[in-house]
Amino acid sequence: MNDTIAAVSTSLGVGAISIIRVSGINAVDIVNKLTKNKNLDKVKSHSITYGHIVDENKIVDEVLISVMKSPKTFTCEDVVEINLHGSIATTNYVLRLLLNNGCRLAEPGEFTKRAFLNGRIDLMQAEGIMDLINSKTEKARSLAINQLDGKVSNMIRSLRDDIISVVANIEVNNDYPEYDDVEVLTNDVIRPKVEIIKSKLEKILDESKNGILIRDGIKTSIIGKPNVGKSSLLNKLINEDKAIVTDIEGTTRDIVEGKISLDGILLNILDTAGIRDTDNIVESIGVKKSLDLINESDLILFVLNNNEIISKEEMDLFNKVKEKNHIVVINKCDLDKKLEIDLKDNVVYISALKNQGIDELKDKIKYIYDLGNIETEDLSYLSNARSISLVEKSYNLICDTLKAIDNQIPIDIVGIDLKNSWNILGEIIGETYENEFLDQLFSRFCLGK
Ligand code: GDP
Repeated sequence: MNDTIAAVSTSLGVGAISIIRVSGINAVDIVNKLTKNKNLDKVKSHSITYGHIVDENKIVDEVLISVMKSPKTFTCEDVVEINLHGSIATTNYVLRLLLNNGCRLAEPGEFTKRAFLNGRIDLMQAEGIMDLINSKTEKARSLAINQLDGKVSNMIRSLRDDIISVVANIEVNNDYPEYDDVEVLTNDVIRPKVEIIKSKLEKILDESKNGILIRDGIKTSIIGKPNVGKSSLLNKLINEDKAIVTDIEGTTRDIVEGKISLDGILLNILDTAGIRDTDNIVESIGVKKSLDLINESDLILFVLNNNEIISKEEMDLFNKVKEKNHIVVINKCDLDKKLEIDLKDNVVYISALKNQGIDELKDKIKYIYDLGNIETEDLSYLSNARSISLVEKSYNLICDTLKAIDNQIPIDIVGIDLKNSWNILGEIIGETYENEFLDQLFSRFCLGK
């Protein structure tokens, strides 16, 4: 962390402004060397200076430079931000100048990593920043800002306090049995305290389902044989919500994706409509893709044609779909009924052509996921797999602790699992971490963040 890093913080493309961020011990000196007739060393911290970036007296751009001196900065180091005109050529030129004058190109997420390592934010907050950048719905935004604000970290800290107070009590009992004013701990005394911790962890885990829904949305696939109306359904679903249909990169129109927001929860809809049965090879690729999608999806919309008898292939596919969260969508209900299938639950009748039944389908999805009941105020749910799996581990240790109490295991041994569960919760906020893990985590950030 002794070197000075630089990166473009805005997305590289044509825009009014582009920002290059520099952080580190030499940030001010290096940028100073590139300016004309300015002494950034002397300017007030947290102020903006108008000037020019020059390359051997040749003006490269007219800029605004923010100088923010350590420690009250994002990274807790000296930070300089250069606001340039947003052309790709200018941005790359200035970045090159910085690199030639002593900066190192920052790795993805390195500014945030420095903020963490310098103690300005904890790991949960760092992840909150990443989620905030990636948020696509209002709910996802407010979940992320609460995480960044420290609400989720505080929830974890308060749980750790609960655990450590029991552990501390056990240790005092063991180490200073002669003290009269310390509550004498027996398994019976600590059991209710551990029960409370267990139920708090249960609540956090239960609510994390909402966190995942809000942050990641519902990966939904439209499955069915060709011509049943899958792409018509996708279009009806997304047209109403003015979403954008894009071809997923690398799949050359095999799979089409659309996004809609249902009660503030993002539905990522994948449609195999691009797969056509023009020949057997394509057909078999289509089936393979459908099966892959079934496995990867949170929800499957299985489309059948009301005007056709169900085929053996469709029955086979349906048997796979049935094992997952699914809704059977019987399309083409404007035509005569020829389909015979006995379904009671999870079925919706629509006509994509006549735009009928689409709202009922959306309502069904909301019902299945209980979207109406997701708390919108004061969101402080865990929302990423890393932290949820750590809470699960901690929860399992607490359950083991309770078993040990019931089996009359000596109290100092009971304390070991409790302490471990406290440590594991600490990993969530980054009280303990491994360097390799940090590298992996922050590499998922974008450049310049
Ligand atoms: P996909 O291959 O499953 O994606 O099916 P398409 O959406 O391309 O639809 C196949 C054909 O069925 C097209 O000619 C659509 O206009 C027609 N179609 C789709 N939905 C309906 C519907 O609800 N009623 C009727 N009558 N035709 C439909």
